[in-house]
Amino acid sequence: DPSFLTVRDLYVQFKTEDGVVKAVDGLSFGLDRGRTLGIVGESGSGKSVTSMAVMGLHDPRYSEVSGEVWLDGENLLTATPRRMEALRGRKVAMIFQDSLSSLSPFHTVGSQIGEVLTKHTGASRREARERAIEMLARVGIPQPKLRVDAYPHEFSGGMRQRAMIAMALVCDPELVIADEPTTALDVTVQAQILDLLKALQEETGSAIIMITHDLGVIADVADEVMVMYAGRAIERGTRREVLKAPGHPYTWGLLASMPHLATDPDSPLRPVRGTPPSLLTLPSGCPFHPRCDYADRVPVDLCSTERPDLHPRTGHSSACYLSQTVKDQIRG
Ligand code: SF4
Ligand code: MG
Repeated sequence: DPSFLTVRDLYVQFKTEDGVVKAVDGLSFGLDRGRTLGIVGESGSGKSVTSMAVMGLHDPRYSEVSGEVWLDGENLLTATPRRMEALRGRKVAMIFQDSLSSLSPFHTVGSQIGEVLTKHTGASRREARERAIEMLARVGIPQPKLRVDAYPHEFSGGMRQRAMIAMALVCDPELVIADEPTTALDVTVQAQILDLLKALQEETGSAIIMITHDLGVIADVADEVMVMYAGRAIERGTRREVLKAPGHPYTWGLLASMPHLATDPDSPLRPVRGTPPSLLTLPSGCPFHPRCDYADRVPVDLCSTERPDLHPRTGHSSACYLSQTVKDQIRG
């Protein structure tokens, strides 16, 4: 397997008072350097849990993780906590939605960026400060020499997000996981931040996992796309394949709820109705069947009895029993 990142049969379960929550239920994917994988789905689909598992950020007291997460030849799921601590920030880094809770209010932006560098490279205070200024400039913060001594609350939301990106990227990590990094920002700032991530990726050749509920973000940055539903991947392909020729009714629904992405304004497709299933009691068969408008187009109750899978090899695939002919009819 030539992929830089290879996730194989990942399962994450939480023990709760009400039973076992299957947050990630058998997930496999790969990602090469310099590429961006967009993971899209509603909240509770397992996107964030997947990223936390890859980062080794699960509390073993409450969760059980199994499978393999190979990064550059090393299985992160069997790495020691100490090893993971050394990898986080240097080799893999994460950018979260909420910069306020990721940045400490009590330390200057510059010292927080510098601290990451000092921790991983043993850089001196002076080197760390210089590098923090350089990073602030790189992420487009004006007057970096002044801003380096500012506190997070002195920054606007967009600037804080840039500062967090600077902190995540200061050691040039090879894998960056961005979890809804622009959700809290207005559209203009959102576009700027996504452009910035793309530009930084071109400079460094890092692999990026972009986690989002927003297909608009996917359309902007993803090379490959994985659509998640109830802890599983239900469609995967290149951005073009998934956005232009989506194969799963759930993906159709997501696209229909994003009018500006629709290629055909007269498309008969509708946004997804209903709510995601409880991960405590997943529906039998296709987990999407209680919300699917097309289950009656599949013979012998297959949708409610047998769980469909993605094709095991790479390429565009959707976990749905509808034949291509019927899909083409439905999509008009
Ligand atoms: Fe709908 Fe059946 Fe396809 Fe699931 S397998 S998405 S229920 S048609
Ligand atoms: Mg989330």
